[in-house]
Amino acid sequence: MTENNPLDALLAACHWIGEKGWCPATGGNMSVRDGDSHCLITESGKDKGQLTADDFLQVEIATNHVPSGRIPSAETGLHTLIYGLYPEVGAVLHTHSVNSTVLSRVEHSNGLVLQGYEMQKSLAGQRTHLDEVVIPIFDNSQDIPALAAEIAQWAQSHPLHYGFLVRGHGLTCWGKNVAEARRHLEGLEFLFQCELQLRLLEAK
Ligand SMILES: [Zn+2]
Repeated sequence: MTENNPLDALLAACHWIGEKGWCPATGGNMSVRDGDSHCLITESGKDKGQLTADDFLQVEIATNHVPSGRIPSAETGLHTLIYGLYPEVGAVLHTHSVNSTVLSRVEHSNGLVLQGYEMQKSLAGQRTHLDEVVIPIFDNSQDIPALAAEIAQWAQSHPLHYGFLVRGHGLTCWGKNVAEARRHLEGLEFLFQCELQLRLLEAK
């Protein structure tokens, strides 16, 4: 998939996410990189299934400053954190699916271990179901700057790949472009559903 216009690709991804039901009730937020120092992110309070290009705001990655003065999504600081840490990231998707919400509460540790699934290969660089993929889980907070600082601290010693979960809240995932971010989102959502069903069966 070529992305001559990343915002068009992101808009299509937002509509797809809306159809999947992964961002109910205006939750979640999506962004694309806009050059080295900015990103474009969804405006607060919009239905992700019905976004248009006018619903994206330019934000400075280093400062979270919004030149237009409009209000971006509440979790903008988590997007700019990822763009700032990883210059190769081109798109970030944050969703509130049932599976990511529930699984991040069922798993009490600070990392969800995925192992034994063929679909792990939907994640960039993964070649075999035999490896372990660990998706970090951070406790939820309404203080996004504090949460971003905690994640940044963690990432200093544990480089982040693909995405992270916020407990009882949802998934933030990314890729080098919108297509890869979409693949990671779809792959992780599939893996979360498998893991939840497996745990339910094993608990019986
Ligand atoms: Zn959220």
